[in-house]
Amino acid sequence: MSYIDTKLFIDGQWCDALDGATIAVTNPSTGATIGVVARATNDDLERAVSAAAKGFAEWRNVPAIERATIMRSAASRLRERRDDVARLLTQEQGKPLAEARAEISFASDIIEWFADEGLRVYGRVVPARSANVQQTVQKEPVGPVAAFTPWNFPVNQIARKLCAALTTGCSFIVKAPEETPAAAAALIGAFADAGVPDGVIGLVFGDPGEVSQFLISHPVIRKVTFTGSTQVGKHLASLAGRYMKRATMELGGHAPVIIAADADVEEAVRVLGAAKFRNAGQVCVSPTRFLVHNSLRSDFTAALARYANGLQVGDGLAEGTTLGPLANERRLSAMKSIVDDARRVGACVATGGEQVGTQGNFFAPTVLADVPLTASVLNDEPFGPIAAVRGFDKLDDAIAEANRLPFGLAGYAYAQRLKDVQQISRDLSVGMLWINQAATPWPEMPFGGVKDSGYGSEGGSEALEPYLISKAVTVKW
Ligand code: NAD
Repeated sequence: MSYIDTKLFIDGQWCDALDGATIAVTNPSTGATIGVVARATNDDLERAVSAAAKGFAEWRNVPAIERATIMRSAASRLRERRDDVARLLTQEQGKPLAEARAEISFASDIIEWFADEGLRVYGRVVPARSANVQQTVQKEPVGPVAAFTPWNFPVNQIARKLCAALTTGCSFIVKAPEETPAAAAALIGAFADAGVPDGVIGLVFGDPGEVSQFLISHPVIRKVTFTGSTQVGKHLASLAGRYMKRATMELGGHAPVIIAADADVEEAVRVLGAAKFRNAGQVCVSPTRFLVHNSLRSDFTAALARYANGLQVGDGLAEGTTLGPLANERRLSAMKSIVDDARRVGACVATGGEQVGTQGNFFAPTVLADVPLTASVLNDEPFGPIAAVRGFDKLDDAIAEANRLPFGLAGYAYAQRLKDVQQISRDLSVGMLWINQAATPWPEMPFGGVKDSGYGSEGGSEALEPYLISKAVTVKW
């Protein structure tokens, strides 16, 4: 499927912006402009909000079982279209086609899980203090939701938010990423074709700052949800606070990995190498700070460097590619500065460290060894194909280092001794922890961070609560 331009989706219709304005979309493998996306004006946004108010009035009264049926139909449609949508995604975002297909398949899984979870939104009856009184807690949808999602997983970042909203009876407007709009539009298209009523879902693009200011301050919008950097998240959380809107914030991470003295190095490198370089490291739960027991440090570093060297860098559409380009030029220049800074403060570049070729945003998979704590890579989220390795002697020191940063999204560990596993489980300040295994952010498990990595959960039964009001209803007769 060749690339297609993207329109806004408002009140059940695909439409251009009222003034016809567009934003160019670039293929990060070639640097070529491959299409455009409509850029909403405030009048377009106002139309989207009015439609969401109308959509909410209808959707909240659709029985949960019917909402689930429509959502399941959307999941099936998306599965059927997987290969076409994946090609759009790879062209605009860069990830290898196999990863793009996996993202779409996982989106369908997410939709199906949330469809069913909505059937389990129960209220409760609370024992009353008089015989002729009944106290109940009734769960109601919070109202129209405004979502803001990034370009690294253009489909799945929307899917989690959209599904939590739809399954609880909320309507939903998403400002999806301008850099990767077509795959996002394909997701919304699957829901539209499945029969979601007009107005229940809106899709807009535009200037991120202007759109978020407009939507968050709008009285019709009752909830805000954002995935992206901590800096932008703090800004949007403060806006949400000013207008008294509920908020879920899924923000940056800088995932520590603890490799204990008794870890299986071969297995750890196989699993964590794949996790590190997936989506060229542009993953909020990507392992980034490898804290390795000094007895294993040189073996581990060498094995991770070998893993990195075995990757095939190239256009995500090309057969055999296992590492695509960075999604935009900002990330490419960020990688160069991270490596320059690390070299300057005395780190060793075990492999990579350079741009690959002159066309597109390719950067070699990179392993930095003996990295001093002052290096920027150990303090700011790299969000790219760079792993930083440091040694430790005592587990307590590794845990203290893991917890040193303000981030607390994901963490990983490889350890055998039960006591070490228990200590790591208890003491790591993260929202998600994977021990002796790959990240498995299945929809049934909570997904979210602590500290500067945000608040709220986008998985598990916890994911629905922020979209619900608990109304206390007491009746006397
Ligand atoms: P950025 O901080 O400019 O933007 C991050 C996302 O937020 C983008 O999708 C952008 O469109 C959106 N955004 C920016 N300003 C906004 C505003 N005022 N209102 C609403 N949305 C707004 O950074 P970037 O260069 O696109 O990405 C770099 C950094 O962002 C990374 O280093 C990483 O920390 C973070 N990021 C995190 C995730 C994640 O999954 N948590 C995803 C993408 C980017």
